[in-house]
Amino acid sequence: MKSLMSAKTKFNPIPRKTVIAEFPSGEIRIEDGSDGAWILFDCDCLDALPYCRAQCCGLRGTYVHQEEQDYANYESYFDQNAQLLLLKRDADGMCYALNRETKTCEIYNNRPQVCRDFHCTRGPDMRGFKLSNKVHRQSND
Ligand code: SF4
Ligand code: SF4
Repeated sequence: MKSLMSAKTKFNPIPRKTVIAEFPSGEIRIEDGSDGAWILFDCDCLDALPYCRAQCCGLRGTYVHQEEQDYANYESYFDQNAQLLLLKRDADGMCYALNRETKTCEIYNNRPQVCRDFHCTRGPDMRGFKLSNKVHRQSND
């Protein structure tokens, strides 16, 4: 009985919303839902960078329009399946234009429209990133 009690008292569920950083532009928070824990970068990207480490630049399918390709000469390839020009990825899965040290875009002023329009949390139907099970469990410790 005693061990059951201590197991019970040790249980410490994640609050449904935990703010981990605040800025004039917004906040970074973890939300716990029925489908796990999510981290939301609900702020400007420049504020989020030390935390998000530009994860979006590792998402697949950063496409460029043909006219952008002609203008900016991006390093891209044609995806036969998607019938789209996609920005080239390096072996680590990140965009070729991402500075690995600073996590900033080396073609920022010339980046494709899709990068200008994208926000992982503030975009339509976007919800940040799902935290791994490991991180989720650690938060319960
Ligand atoms: S869109 Fe990219 S840079 Fe901006 S907060 Fe999300 S992961 Fe970070
Ligand atoms: S072009 Fe720049 S902003 Fe767009 S995915 Fe590549 S590094 Fe990220």
